[in-house]
Amino acid sequence: MSRVIIIGCGGVSKVAIHKCCQLDDVFTDLCIASRTVSKCDDVKKELEGKTKTNITTKQIDANDFDALVKLFNEFKPEIVMNLGMPYQNLIIMDACLEYGCHYLDTACYEPEDVNEPVWRARYEKRVKEKNFTAYFDYSYQWEYRKKFEEKGLIALLGCGFDPGVTQAYVAYAKKHEFDRIDTLDILDCNGGDHGYPFATNFNPEINLREVSSDGAYYENGKWIKVPAMSIKREYNFDGVGMKDMYLLHHEEIESIALNYPEIKRIRFYMTFGESYLRHMNCLENVGLLSTKAIDYKGTKIVPIQFLKELLPDPSTLGPRTHGKTNIGCIFTGVKNGKEKKYYIYNMCDHQESYHEVGSQAVSYTTGVPAMCGALMILKGYWNTPGAKTVEEFNPDPFIEALDKYGLPKTESYDPIMVD
Ligand code: NDP
Repeated sequence: MSRVIIIGCGGVSKVAIHKCCQLDDVFTDLCIASRTVSKCDDVKKELEGKTKTNITTKQIDANDFDALVKLFNEFKPEIVMNLGMPYQNLIIMDACLEYGCHYLDTACYEPEDVNEPVWRARYEKRVKEKNFTAYFDYSYQWEYRKKFEEKGLIALLGCGFDPGVTQAYVAYAKKHEFDRIDTLDILDCNGGDHGYPFATNFNPEINLREVSSDGAYYENGKWIKVPAMSIKREYNFDGVGMKDMYLLHHEEIESIALNYPEIKRIRFYMTFGESYLRHMNCLENVGLLSTKAIDYKGTKIVPIQFLKELLPDPSTLGPRTHGKTNIGCIFTGVKNGKEKKYYIYNMCDHQESYHEVGSQAVSYTTGVPAMCGALMILKGYWNTPGAKTVEEFNPDPFIEALDKYGLPKTESYDPIMVD
């Protein structure tokens, strides 16, 4: 018997809602709260007669602390899953602390307005010290560790696939396969084709911010910054085939480097097609990726938010996306005095995801781990309080749940390495 609030009702939330409703003996009461309540009502309708979960819906602006606390006091959740935007992570964490419930999200905090002076000054300092320019870093959410610890609550940070499952793979590899891990390459491949010349497969604002930032990787205790898309490799992905992939900075590198300091090098690669990159470069060159508001005939417009309105909504890509995703981690290290390699990954089919829950595989591979993370907390498998990332918990019950609820692992002991 658990009461859960899900904030946001986009691509990722819809999958998580469907998956929670499949486990209706655990997720008995679910409140879907989002900016546009009609979207929540639509999902509730879709699920009518298919689940015993009691679903309620609510309009909420997650920027409104008082409204959040009021909703939490009325609904009395054990956990709030923030599957909307990372801009609201901190305010929702504050509201969870105020009310007294667990918290979960799937993306590291970043601010909506990256030109806000106080935030900007701290950002510039971090760029100098840490040498990566992404708008997100975990320092803001790690500042909540003590507050959650003191209240005996968990804030589970970044519980999607990457971040999320990739960190569980690290903890799993360390527990079962290695005495010492030396290197880690995280490979994220989307081999899906939706037929549009350009569309992002999750929230366009967050996606384009991430991809257009400089790349960075971690080596021998230091961050190495490289220009965006300047390191390219080809890789032959199981279930997908040969793809071009590019080195990006990604949030889990930061937490893995902290929690597994023995790892000498951590890199993250994501696949992109030529058409995607050509469109992105062009949009960047004409200023449409800018987060700075401009004045258009008396109306303030943020270019990237305007662009989001023009692009296909990622949550509508399901019916037209074919192919598979393949996301995982390749490790080198030592076990019983012998050097070894190990690759653990998941393949997920876009059409199978669509037929099961009405969404494409990128939303599926994020929404399923979010549900499984909540399950870990609600069932008490993960019970150490604090604001923590996934690799800080026992990976076994989580990986078992992923295997069972739609994202089974595949393992290889002789993978092709990335040079
Ligand atoms: P969508 O844009 O599809 O959905 C976002 C939802 O949040 C929408 O329903 C939107 O409402 C709602 N929302 C936005 N602002 C507010 C607000 N102020 N108050 C209340 N609700 C709000 O995004 P996705 O589902 O694609 O992505 C969701 C999250 O998952 C993002 O943070 C993304 O970065 C993360 N993600 C993580 C991945 C991982 O592997 N870890 C992979 C992919 C995504 P409205 O309908 O009105 O627009």
